[in-house]
Amino acid sequence: MRVVFGAGRIAALTDEVDRLGLRNVLILCSPRQRALGERVASLLPGRVAGVFAEARMHVPIDTAAGGEAETRKLGADGCVSVGGGSAVGLGKAIALATGVPTVCVPTTYSGSEMTPVWGLTDGNGKATGRDPVVLPRTVIYDPELTFVLPADVSATSGMNAIAHAVEALYAPDGSPMTALMAQESVRCLAAALPGVVADPYALEPRTLALRGAWLAGACLGATTMSLHHKICHALGGLFDLPHAATHAVVLPHVAAFNLPAAPEAEAALARALHPLALRTGTPQPPGTHRPPDSACALAALVSDLGIPPSLAALGLREQDLPTAADAVLAKPYANPRPVTRDGLLAVLGSALRGDPPEQAT
Ligand code: NAD
Repeated sequence: MRVVFGAGRIAALTDEVDRLGLRNVLILCSPRQRALGERVASLLPGRVAGVFAEARMHVPIDTAAGGEAETRKLGADGCVSVGGGSAVGLGKAIALATGVPTVCVPTTYSGSEMTPVWGLTDGNGKATGRDPVVLPRTVIYDPELTFVLPADVSATSGMNAIAHAVEALYAPDGSPMTALMAQESVRCLAAALPGVVADPYALEPRTLALRGAWLAGACLGATTMSLHHKICHALGGLFDLPHAATHAVVLPHVAAFNLPAAPEAEAALARALHPLALRTGTPQPPGTHRPPDSACALAALVSDLGIPPSLAALGLREQDLPTAADAVLAKPYANPRPVTRDGLLAVLGSALRGDPPEQAT
């Protein structure tokens, strides 16, 4: 797909809408991003059907139906999604139902804009699928639009992107190209996120983080995710835990479990996380079980960014773990290490308590 990248590049929106021959677009955003949606609409005078500020996390089926109805009622010939994965997801749902093309202007690091994966939720949980029709035609990444993204959302969203790249490194359908993209993605995000959190208006780290998120999203679209994403999907669906924060908390624990069985992924992560790994790589007495350096480096990054340290802090309870484990084990999927119930409960337990990542045996 076509990507426009750089500070101030939102100014290219008119040209990008013209390139697609769109005359009457519906702007999509979350209720809290209505002002941003209106601002983007003002860049397209005479070409906006309306602003539909109803996007919600995980695209509830009623929201998707409302967006589809609005598109048809207003005769919109395309959508412009502005915001995080929720706005992008709504655009995908409308594209799936109507076939209209979408342009995306992402303002978080979710990476959804780079994937042909759609998701819809109803009372029975979340259904997902792949369809090329939902892939945005153009993505505009403008780091200046992320200045107002709060520090805590930037941190968890950035770790969510790192999780895509980590799992791409040991994906069953990974390639030398996705491995390079994933390593560079982790390098960019790990280097940028502390600066993003320290100074929300610093352009350089914001630009680097968005570049990392673009690469992570491309990895997510090109490969099949494993244990980490299955756990987060189950926890989000069953217990309504916040999407990006759950990814951030769980990632070091799954990395500690999986990386010993994925040496090439561990080597790539060690290169990407080198400065952090140096800091956390304290010598261990011989014979002790030592988790991979990269898992410790990821845990250090989560802690440095001020992200809640445990799933308990996000609202999960000890008694929820067996239900979560059942959901994660319900359907088989590829993973570098076989996932036993005991192994999974050990990973979930250590993420629940916020223990240091351990190499589960
Ligand atoms: P989100 O879109 O809900 O945004 C997270 C938070 O950031 C919200 O509180 C939102 O109000 C805020 N926000 C967004 N842009 C802002 C801005 N410019 N200024 C201030 N605040 C802003 O969530 P997300 O974490 O971006 O995305 C998660 C969703 O995306 C989930 O539903 C997930 O399932 C989906 N997702 C889908 C894919 C896919 O390939 N289909 C990939 C990744 C994520």
